[in-house]
Amino acid sequence: MEKTLVLIKPDAVERNFVGKILALYEENGLKITELKMLNATEELAKTHYAEHVEKPFFPEILAYITRSPIVALILEGEDAIAKVRAINGSTDPKEAAEGTVRNLYAVSKSENSVHASDSVESAEREIKIWF
Ligand code: ADP
Ligand code: MG
Repeated sequence: MEKTLVLIKPDAVERNFVGKILALYEENGLKITELKMLNATEELAKTHYAEHVEKPFFPEILAYITRSPIVALILEGEDAIAKVRAINGSTDPKEAAEGTVRNLYAVSKSENSVHASDSVESAEREIKIWF
């Protein structure tokens, strides 16, 4: 059994897509084992996105992720990390496969509705940040 960290980001919470996104995970056999709504602080955002802090688009990510509440959750299941990345779809909604969260709900490459851990190491690191 694997655990992975998901964030439902401000654009999705603002447009009332939390329930629809959670349903996609549950329908695919993933179990929600922790869940909370919170405001991401600048400090949490910088820790979470440490690999992107030096990128030119980082100020944009920071303003976006801290502007209104997010939902943080832990999902558990077999191959949960890869499964959730597949359900979420490609970073850029223009490239996201039909029926994925980002295909259905994302606004743009930056405001793309969800985050999910990309490896066992990231999942362990990110779960400690948010829970
Ligand atoms: P993913 O969330 O699919 O793992 P990345 O780790 O590459 O994608 O990027 C983290 C987040 O930063 C993305 O989900 C998106 O919100 C934002 N982002 C990534 N690339 C860009 C970009 N070129 N311009 C604006 N925002 C971006
Ligand atoms: Mg990433």
